[in-house]
Amino acid sequence: MTPCPTFIAGEWRTLAGGATTPVFNPSTGDVIAECPVGTSALVDEAVSAAHAAFPAWRDTPAVERARLFFRYRQLVEQNFEPLCRTVSREHGKTHAEARGSIFRGLENIEYACGAPSLLFGDTLGTLARGVDCESLLQPLGVCVGITPFNFPAMVPLWMFPLALACGNTFVLKPSEKVPLSAILLGQLLEQAGLPKGVFNIVHGGRECVDALLTHPKVRAISFVGSSPIAKYIYEIATRHSKRVQANGGAKNYIVVMPDADVPKTVEALSTAAFGCAGERCMAGSTAIAVGAAGERVLPALVGAARAIKVGRTDQISTQPDMGPVITAQHRDRVLSLVGSGEKEGAKILCDGRAVKVPDAPRGFYFGATIVDGVEANMTLAREEVFGPVLNVMRMDDLDRAIEVANQSAFGNGAAIFTNSGHAAREFKHRVKAGMIGINVGVPATMAMFPFTGWDDSFYGDLHIQGREAVQFYSQQKVITTRWFGGEVGDVWKK
Ligand code: NAD
Repeated sequence: MTPCPTFIAGEWRTLAGGATTPVFNPSTGDVIAECPVGTSALVDEAVSAAHAAFPAWRDTPAVERARLFFRYRQLVEQNFEPLCRTVSREHGKTHAEARGSIFRGLENIEYACGAPSLLFGDTLGTLARGVDCESLLQPLGVCVGITPFNFPAMVPLWMFPLALACGNTFVLKPSEKVPLSAILLGQLLEQAGLPKGVFNIVHGGRECVDALLTHPKVRAISFVGSSPIAKYIYEIATRHSKRVQANGGAKNYIVVMPDADVPKTVEALSTAAFGCAGERCMAGSTAIAVGAAGERVLPALVGAARAIKVGRTDQISTQPDMGPVITAQHRDRVLSLVGSGEKEGAKILCDGRAVKVPDAPRGFYFGATIVDGVEANMTLAREEVFGPVLNVMRMDDLDRAIEVANQSAFGNGAAIFTNSGHAAREFKHRVKAGMIGINVGVPATMAMFPFTGWDDSFYGDLHIQGREAVQFYSQQKVITTRWFGGEVGDVWKK
């Protein structure tokens, strides 16, 4: 069994004797590693190492820090396949999905390579007579990343490259369900030549997280995970005077208008709902079919869902269309939510509950499922399912579709499929969500744009990614300068 090492002050260390939690290969149900349950003492060691490394890293010129990330980018690219295999093995993504997620991570490294330009301040000469004013962006100190299971490499890469390129040091606490990809990313950082202590990894659950949220030397917390934990992180960490950006869960609506392009909509809906086995905060989990759209789109969509081949993703030679969900408990939760919808009167058009994968009978599988006739008050409509389940709601017009979508407590993404510019414009302006797709099913933003969740999908002010993240990882200093002395020559005088 592989024990997962911590990485503190440049040293990989396997903790002997403490409590651990199992890391599964969800494709087979086998335990593939043991993740240590870190204590507050361990967190103190990691934060102290990051704190000690901060002054030298802060004073390293931005171009040198960026140069390190150019090397890191190359190393991640060279190790693309091992990274994809690790993501597939511990999370269950198909190889193609793992590749897509690492590409998204690479884009974040590339963005961090631009640090010297991103860290420009402003200057106003002659603010008053003989007085100039300039602003500088300076790093904060020790920043922390706490990440979820569903993107084992991409979500950590949303955080630490930019935080480090901005001159901070970092402690990463990856999900205890998928710690192996984060370890590989840490090993590559070490190979890129990052000085000891600048980046550290600790593992664990609540005790470890609480110690990070309350540690006096931690300045900022980036969190991605479920909404109740995001809210908890925000409340505790802000009470301890940290900056916080906490991304939560989601329930994303896709409105399909009667004039939508049928084949393209079916393809996009199928990918949005069933890609990554629905374990995406940007998954299109509810389709709202307006007017005749249901009759136009659903038969082909049900056909596409039934054709999705579910299977193990840990063998490169034979890849399915969809892999397992993360754990047996999670599969049972998805099962129970679909059952609740059925009990409350919804109709199952495509039923993935009894899916079997003969060569991996102990894997955590759930097939593509479409539930029609979902009503806004059903549990299935309100709760995040985080599995390959598409709810279908029927509405008479766009107004009512927007009204229902806007009742959600979440506000991550929303999309519309239509050929009408007017409908798209109405939707874009009136729907209550931070990331909007127009004929795009998963409008997850790229590295140069912020990941703009609203409401229960985000707690904080400055989002992850893009210029907002540069501001999050920096503090501004404004310097007003006046020099005393005699008159000097005026170069503008002839
Ligand atoms: P989670 O909230 O269970 O765990 C996230 C992190 O919090 C993990 O590192 C975990 O160890 C830690 N944690 C869990 N319980 C804790 C507790 N009681 N106290 C302190 N720390 C705790 O989330 P998950 O199940 O790993 O990930 C899935 C969730 O993440 C979904 O809700 C999904 O929508 C969300 N997500 C959101 C985004 C986004 O950008 N909005 C992106 C990816 C995933």
